[in-house]
Amino acid sequence: MKTCTKCGAPEVIIEKKHSGQRLCQDCFIQGTQQKVLKDIRKYKLIDKGDKVLMALSGGKDSVMVLDILNSLYERNIIEMTAVTIDEGIKGYREDGVRIAEDHAKRLGIEHNLVTFKDSFDTTLDDIMTSSSQRGACTYCGVFRRWILNREARDVGATKIATGHNLDDETQAILMNYLEGNIENLTRIGPKTVSRSEKFTVKIKPLREIPEKEVALYVLARELEVHFAGCPYSQESFRGEVGQFIKQLSQNHPTIMYSTLRGFDKLKPVIKKEFTKEFNMGKCTRCGEPSAHELCRACIFCIEINE
Ligand code: SF4
Ligand code: ZN
Repeated sequence: MKTCTKCGAPEVIIEKKHSGQRLCQDCFIQGTQQKVLKDIRKYKLIDKGDKVLMALSGGKDSVMVLDILNSLYERNIIEMTAVTIDEGIKGYREDGVRIAEDHAKRLGIEHNLVTFKDSFDTTLDDIMTSSSQRGACTYCGVFRRWILNREARDVGATKIATGHNLDDETQAILMNYLEGNIENLTRIGPKTVSRSEKFTVKIKPLREIPEKEVALYVLARELEVHFAGCPYSQESFRGEVGQFIKQLSQNHPTIMYSTLRGFDKLKPVIKKEFTKEFNMGKCTRCGEPSAHELCRACIFCIEINE
């Protein structure tokens, strides 16, 4: 009979092919929490007294980060606040918003909902049904980053935590290699510190946790999450790259870890060679930090209204 390799319990919920570990529910939950907290210390993601803004979509990744960071919040090590961004994707975003609100309320964490409509006077659906010149994820990513950064400043956050997991991170690495966007690679990592202090530091506590384990964690912890996929996600190149890595992982279970480790070794070299020098100013339209006269969000807003 296969038993838990840590405590010997008979009911195993996961066999980790990459490490050979078999774990029961309690050992899996405990081990995963310890791993995330260890990574937070190892990469110095959070300092005592930080005010962390959780980008809480209601999906499994951000709910898991919230659950683990809550243990630091409860012990008064950090302050915590959450924001949910409503892009205006009909039939998809509503459930996530409700779930995010419920979790924040349950944990007694301040929570704000910010919509594309309020910020940019349009919704992602409207952009995509009118004369969109780009893919949905391009608009979505730029607008969400703009909102997150402004929200962080409004609430006085010192860190922004996102739910990016190991799969997301390896997808980003591979995507940028394949597209030849080497400069973008310089910004990938557990912690993104911008040269402008008007951009809040972003952290990814789940960067070394595979997506499958995130899903198992929220199930094991019985946390309600929004499991539906975004209707626009399949359109993206990221989706295709994600499928490719998943396929490879079936026969090569350590491939995502090795991609990440290899990239982390290479990153200082890439950074040295490819970090562009530029002066960070202010967008003349919205006042947000920008290296050019207009920030990307404003360029998109103007394009949409043409
Ligand atoms: Fe936005 Fe694309 Fe993610 Fe959908 S899949 S939420 S459009 S970034
Ligand atoms: Zn702007």
